[in-house]
Amino acid sequence: MPCSSCGKAKNIVEGYVRHIIDPKNRAAAEKFAICGKCDEITWYKIPEYIGYLAGHGLKGITGFKDLTSLPKLEKYAKGENRHPFCRICKCFLHGKTQVNDEVCPLGKW
Ligand code: SF4
Repeated sequence: MPCSSCGKAKNIVEGYVRHIIDPKNRAAAEKFAICGKCDEITWYKIPEYIGYLAGHGLKGITGFKDLTSLPKLEKYAKGENRHPFCRICKCFLHGKTQVNDEVCPLGKW
């Protein structure tokens, strides 16, 4: 059985790859539409997000299983070079919504 940390890393990679291959996937778009209306969506620049992770001792894509327990991401508005993340699970939402076994931490999808 793969460890949950490896499983999370697998989902992150799978989500990014699926988003690149099929960015208009209908099921992902439906989930992302829910995120778009949620107060917990935020828009980070990649260096800001990396800075957040580094500030909490995370340097790679392993060990991501406990991100939900970290403090919420800051709330930023959509803007140039900003990408959608969930403030609660800290996931990149265009990737998370592409992975079938990922779920919304608030049970919205
Ligand atoms: S994953 Fe859930 S809690 Fe996070 S932004 Fe989307 S709808 Fe909101």
